[in-house]
This record gives sequence, structure tokens and C-alpha cells, in this order.
Amino acid sequence: MRILVSNDDGIFSPGIKALGLAMRALGEVFVVAPDMEQSAVGHGITVRRPLRFKHTQSAGFGEIPAYRVDGTPADCVVLGVHLLGRPDLVVSGINLGVNLGLDLTHSGTVAAALEGASLGIPSIAFSLDTSGEVLDFQEAARWALAIARAVGERGLPPGVLLNVNFPASKPKGLRVTRLSTHRFEDQVVERLDPEGKPYYWIAGTPAGEEEEGTDLWAVRRGYVSVTPVSLDLTAHGFLEALSGLLEGVAS
Ligand code: MN
Repeated sequence: MRILVSNDDGIFSPGIKALGLAMRALGEVFVVAPDMEQSAVGHGITVRRPLRFKHTQSAGFGEIPAYRVDGTPADCVVLGVHLLGRPDLVVSGINLGVNLGLDLTHSGTVAAALEGASLGIPSIAFSLDTSGEVLDFQEAARWALAIARAVGERGLPPGVLLNVNFPASKPKGLRVTRLSTHRFEDQVVERLDPEGKPYYWIAGTPAGEEEEGTDLWAVRRGYVSVTPVSLDLTAHGFLEALSGLLEGVAS
């Protein structure tokens, strides 16, 4: 099996190192990751400037071929597949911090898996709750390997990827979950630059309800959360009502 490993924290992150090294147990691994942190860039693709694809020996992957790209996580998957050949599996992470609920709309970690899934390759995003006292990437990587092995052997339905979150402490087990309403409530901080002109910093505080069966609920209770995510963003439940809402618009 050939496994493409990417992330959004950058190629020098301890999370991608743990994930990449763990994946060696499944077959041939190659790493293609951003040269700098790209958290919260979402599924952006760089189309207005050229990209560089550079072999990187200093990221601690040993014999694993590793490349850094001056672009987004989705760029890394596009270039990795194009230049190194189609993998059997795309894995992204392990992100420093959870990606739950509405975080998926801006997560670069999840975007790498979205790009893999949109290319028809089984894909998984991995994120670790970093609110604990110790960051145990080794424990998370062991779970990531077990999940990736199952997906590699059994596949995923077309257009479906997995979003996996690890709890802050040693996992009690695994839960299949749905997305929560977890989100960041935007705060805009205004400060002054050295010339006295204002600049703005978008920050946010996490919010969301801990409903049973959701990703937030599982991670808060110490379980590995595995959510199937669909590339189909259609609001199927609203299709019929929308026809009613738009009645008369075309006439
Ligand atoms: Mn990140």
C-alpha cells in the first residue's frame, strides 16, 4: 500500500512526524506538507502563483521521502499525487488541536483529506486535543495506524472521508460520531501599529453544545471520535421546501 501523508501545521510539526513514522507499518510512505503553518486556510488551492516542491531531509522522517511545498495542504495533496503517483490512502495530521463540528469548514488538516477524497482516494484527517498536560503523539499515532489499516483493507464509500479526533488523555476506546455544533465565536481585536494605524486580529473562543453522539461529546469523554464526512454538501432535507420557497421566481 502507498500512503501520502500531509498536514496543515507544516512539515516540521511533531504531529506529522509521529503519523508518518507510524504509517510505515502499512507500506510505502511519502510525506508532502506545507513548509510553514497553514492552519485554518481551509481547502484553498494556489492558482495565482507558482509552487515549489522541495525534498526535505531535516524533518526527521529518516528513509521516508519527504517534500515541502510553499502552499496549502490541498496544494500538497494535488502535487503529491501528480508528482509521486497515486496513493492508496491519504492521511493528514496529526493536527495540534481538535477539528470538531464547524471547524471542518476552515480546517487545513481536514482539507487535505477532502482533497484526497475528491480525487477518489480513501482519506482520513487526524487531530489531537492539545488541552491536556502532555501531548502524547505516540499513543495517537498507534490509534491512527489501526484506523488507517482498517480503511486501507476495507476502503470507504466514494465521496466519504473520515475525520478523527483524539482526546487529551489516553483514549478509553473509540466512538463513531456525528458532527457537533462546535465552533469558534469570532472576536476581532483592534490594536495600533508603530505608526498609530489600526490593525485587526481575528481571534475566537470555542463554543458548542455537547450533545450525546457528537464528536465534541466523545472527545470530552476521553474517546477517539471517528466521524464519516460527506463531500456532498447538499442540504438534502431542504430540497423540496426550497422549490416551494422559490415558487414564481423564474416566471
Ligand atoms: Mn493545524
